[in-house]
Amino acid sequence: MQISGKTKITGIFGWPVEHTLSPYMQNAAFSHCGLDYRYLPFLVSPDRLSNAIEAIRSLNMCGVNLTIPHKEASLPFLDSVDEEALAIGAVNTIINTKGRLTGHNTDGRGFATALQEQGITLEGCKALIVGAGGASRAVGHYLSRNAKSLHIYNRTHEKAVALASFLSRTTGNAIVVKDLSFLSDYDIIINATSLGLKDDDPLPLDTDLLSPFQIVCDLIYRQTTLLMKAQQKGCRTANGLGMLLWQGAYAFELWTGTRPPVDVMRTALLSIAK
Ligand code: NAP
Repeated sequence: MQISGKTKITGIFGWPVEHTLSPYMQNAAFSHCGLDYRYLPFLVSPDRLSNAIEAIRSLNMCGVNLTIPHKEASLPFLDSVDEEALAIGAVNTIINTKGRLTGHNTDGRGFATALQEQGITLEGCKALIVGAGGASRAVGHYLSRNAKSLHIYNRTHEKAVALASFLSRTTGNAIVVKDLSFLSDYDIIINATSLGLKDDDPLPLDTDLLSPFQIVCDLIYRQTTLLMKAQQKGCRTANGLGMLLWQGAYAFELWTGTRPPVDVMRTALLSIAK
C-alpha cells in the first residue's frame, strides 16, 4: 500500500531500538488487514522522552510501543494509565485518542497467552522468576495473581526485594529468595534476565538442578543454551517469541480496533528471528 495523506503512524520508542522485531510483525499485520497504518522505529534518548511523547500528540500519531528504558519513565507524561499498567508500574503501549494519551501494558497478557497457546496453564503453579528488571514486572504481575506461589531471585538482591514489595502491594504475594539451590521446588521457572542474549553468557541458573516435567521459559526471543540444556533434562520449554507476538497482537488491537491477524504476525516474526 502507498503511503498517503491519511496514513496513520505508529511505532516504537527505544534506546537502543535497532534490535526491535516489532516493525516486521506490525507492518505485516497492517498490510494483511488492508489498514493504512505504518509502524516505524524511533531512537529516543531518555532525556528526550517527554518531547517524544508530546510529539505523539503534535504529529497526530495513533500511538506507539515503548521499550527499554522508557516503560517506567513514561508514566508521568501520559494523561491516564489503565489499571493493568498502573499495577505493573510500566507502560508498553500508548494510544492517542484525539490528543489524549493513555498508557497500557500488554506484556503480562502476552506472556500468559503465549504459554496458554502451548497448553501451559499458570493457575495454581509454583513459579520462580530469575531477574527483577522491566520484563519481570509484567510477568510477575501476572504470576502473583494467578500462580499458587511466586518466588523472585535477582543478582542485585535489593531490586528483587523492591519488586516483590511492589507486587505484594498491588496484586498478590511474592517472596524473594537469596539463592537458586532449590530449583526442583518449582513447577515453572522463568529467566527474565538478559543472560543468554549473547552466546558466551553464563547460564542464569544451574541446569543440573532441574528435574524432568518442570517448565522452563526464557523471555529471550530465541532458543537459548538454557532452553537447550533444560530440554536435555526432560523439561518443557518456551522462548520469548510467543510473548513478543502476543503483546504486539494486543497492541495492534488497541490501536486499530481490528482483530489481530496473529498467524500473519507470527510468520513475519519467524521469518526474521534467528
Ligand atoms: P532490564 O530491565 O535491563 O533487566 C535486566 C535483568 O537482567 C536484571 O534483573 C539484571 O539483574 C539481570 N542481569 C543482567 N545482567 C546480568 C548478569 N550478568 N548476571 C545476572 N543477572 C543479570 O531488562 P528487561 O527489560 O527486564 O529484559 C530482560 C530480558 O527479557 C531481556 O533478555 C529481554 O530481551 C527480554 N524481554 C523479552 C520480552 C518479550 O516480549 N519476549 C519483553 C521484554 C523483555 P540486576 O538487577 O542485578 O542488574
